[in-house]
Amino acid sequence: MSSSGRIKILVIIGIVVFLGSCKKDKVYNVPLIIQPYIDEFIAEAATRGLPLDIDNLVVVFEEELKVDGVEAAGLCQRGGRNGTPTIKIDTTSVNWQTNLSSREQLVFHELGHCVLERSHIEERLSNGNYRSTMRPTGEQIYGPEYSSFKRSYYFDELFDIETPEQSWSIDVPQYNDISPAAKTLAFEEPFNDANGGWSTGQSNSTSRKIEGGFYKIKILQAGGYYVDNTLAIQADKDFEIEYNLTLDESGFSGILWGGEERPGFLPSFKLMYIGNEVVSIGSIVHGTESSYEAAQNNSPLSNQLVVRKIGVNLYCYLNQSLIDNIMINESFGDKIGIAFGGAAGTEIMVDNIKLLYLN
Ligand SMILES: [Zn+2]
Repeated sequence: MSSSGRIKILVIIGIVVFLGSCKKDKVYNVPLIIQPYIDEFIAEAATRGLPLDIDNLVVVFEEELKVDGVEAAGLCQRGGRNGTPTIKIDTTSVNWQTNLSSREQLVFHELGHCVLERSHIEERLSNGNYRSTMRPTGEQIYGPEYSSFKRSYYFDELFDIETPEQSWSIDVPQYNDISPAAKTLAFEEPFNDANGGWSTGQSNSTSRKIEGGFYKIKILQAGGYYVDNTLAIQADKDFEIEYNLTLDESGFSGILWGGEERPGFLPSFKLMYIGNEVVSIGSIVHGTESSYEAAQNNSPLSNQLVVRKIGVNLYCYLNQSLIDNIMINESFGDKIGIAFGGAAGTEIMVDNIKLLYLN
């Protein structure tokens, strides 16, 4: 059993305060730990033909930031103290702590407000990702590993709002681009009986039973858990894993794939639906994690997660809408498992799990 907590999404909100036009002295006061991000920001702008001279900026650390009662990981007061743009960063936030990539996105987002004077953009790319670093919420838009190929686009867009979409967000298969006839069912678990090898019974942490076509899980002790199955994927083939689940807002559940031989099952990839509103895509082993607001929300009805592997590309779908794509540059293991968890009392019902090879 492993544990993985609920992913918390913190909003990043920029505040625009226009003060009078009275002229003030410039102030530059940036903590040492932030200065490399400023240097990188200036360097990235310069390579794109935008010379920046940042000599009027204050960055301060502050905990439990809130904007209009909503938690924020950072904010920009453009008119700030004495007219100096001021960025506040919460170093206890998920955005700061998840990884260096997430930290960079937080600081660059606030520099987007405070230096480039940009506002939020809610628009999305064809693959479901946000169009801009200036998204209104705090999800990771690229990670240090499986989505690092997206980083240069987001830098381009930050400094040039007209930047067109790239092939990685345009040339992507929508769910129905592969017809059912082009798939071969290799495994299906409809939970009609208890013979599928899935763990049932009760422990201090969870109770699990197979009943009426569902794998019914109840979380007794708050936390994250997983079970695996003996099924092995032929990893050299292209395939799809389909997972149908029902959960409430206090729970999460999803697909695990990869890892080592049993019993040391360590999932390498996970696709998780959290609280009927957020999809988390990432890796446990490598600590890479990106969360996205769900493209659709069928709550409280059954939802479907699909991960489709074509070559080195992984495409993730929620209710048959593409929500993200990443690239894997290593061989994962061949195991399938499912993860579930949440607060005590959470109930999760799994309808069906399928493995399909793409012809
Ligand atoms: Zn913002």
